[in-house]
Amino acid sequence: MRMVDLIEKKKQGECHDDAEIGFIIRGYTAGDIPDYQMSAWLMAVWFRGLSTTETVSLTMSMARSGKLIDLSMITGVKVDKHSTGGVADTTTLIVAPLVAAAGVKVAKMSGRGLGFTGGTIDKLESIPGFRTSLNAGEFISQLQRVGIVVMGQTNDLAPADGKIYALRDVTATVDSIPLIAASVMSKKIAAGADKILLDVKYGNGAFMKTVAAAKELAGVMVGIGTDAGRETVAVISSMEEPLGTVIGNSLEVAEAIEILSGNGDARLRDFCVILASKMLMLAEPLLSMNAATEKITGLLYNGAGLAKFQEFVEAQGGDRRIVQDTSLLGIAPRTLELGASREGYIVRMDSAELGHAAIMLGAGRGKKGDAIDLTAGIKLHRRCGDFVSEDELLATLCFGEGVDPIIAKLMIEEAIHIDKESLPSGALIAGMVDLYGWHDVLSGNPEVMAPRPIKKLLRNRR
Ligand code: URA
Repeated sequence: MRMVDLIEKKKQGECHDDAEIGFIIRGYTAGDIPDYQMSAWLMAVWFRGLSTTETVSLTMSMARSGKLIDLSMITGVKVDKHSTGGVADTTTLIVAPLVAAAGVKVAKMSGRGLGFTGGTIDKLESIPGFRTSLNAGEFISQLQRVGIVVMGQTNDLAPADGKIYALRDVTATVDSIPLIAASVMSKKIAAGADKILLDVKYGNGAFMKTVAAAKELAGVMVGIGTDAGRETVAVISSMEEPLGTVIGNSLEVAEAIEILSGNGDARLRDFCVILASKMLMLAEPLLSMNAATEKITGLLYNGAGLAKFQEFVEAQGGDRRIVQDTSLLGIAPRTLELGASREGYIVRMDSAELGHAAIMLGAGRGKKGDAIDLTAGIKLHRRCGDFVSEDELLATLCFGEGVDPIIAKLMIEEAIHIDKESLPSGALIAGMVDLYGWHDVLSGNPEVMAPRPIKKLLRNRR
């Protein structure tokens, strides 16, 4: 088999068989297929797509590119969560400790920043000493001892995703349903949890721009998880504005600590409580949403979630004192303030543009392997729907020596739209997808709207 022929095949819109996908993934992981050929294949997939059968083959090949962690010796239900990528999305850092504090084991494999979105692994690496590269033994033993563990892809675990993820980030091949589905689900399957909660984002700050596209991605991932024997549920949530109030790695860790301390932004906090409650319900199916929310809220306000976060940081080699003193995360040496150009209501925040501006300040990568400035980013002082006076402080840009912030400042100005008339802000959660189909939340109908056997649908669709 030759990679050039497989690129040609996909370019012509033909389907690969399982052996061909296995050849591509094994070859790229081993270094036999160079970046330039893999980039060409990824771009062909971006344009031509993959059938459901090909997507399942790709996912399983990527999961099997390393070890598959077996967590069966750990008692109780093990749960995992994954966001498909957003801006100012610190949910893992808040939700995972809350769920672990409720006694549920949280085993998670995360990624780095991708495109204009942030990544949990980069955020955790802004904690001095924190190790995101664990081996399977360390992963299992920490899960047993502490009840929570988060790691990135290594040479041992989902190495294919680690390599392909980094390549997609710099070849404009991120926003593809089969590539996202395979990337997310290969990590979830490799990390071994029994149940998976997916947070599938839609909107201007997500890879899926519409609810319909997010539903499609969620359906594919729920189908793959279910086929692999992992109960998988997806929440479809809005990324029409940044989820939290800061963008950038250490800034977001500090925001997570603030929320876990019982303070901070209400929108981010309430969303995290919902996600944590859903995860708890996956582990304890007899629990009602009300009971789960009450339990998680209690753990947030009695400090148990924060204590679990600190235990988790220390277990992975991080400096536990960051919980009391977030300045230990590092502070960007330079800042620039941005005021409102006019009086009015903030009617729109273009999250992707804000994410790109944060990258310009050093918070993300322009090309593969670029170092990032973990302290760089943007603090947003206002949210969509807020009224602002002319010159009122909208944002603070944080950056290092040698960075020219002017383009980023212009981008942020462009991204924040102010108008005389206010606009109603949209709901944060549009709906949920599980094995039975789509549950609409926006219409106010919590029932299954269109029950459909996703497994069957996935197997039949080409
Ligand atoms: N998260 C992932 O892990 N992979 C993607 O491709 C997108 C979001």
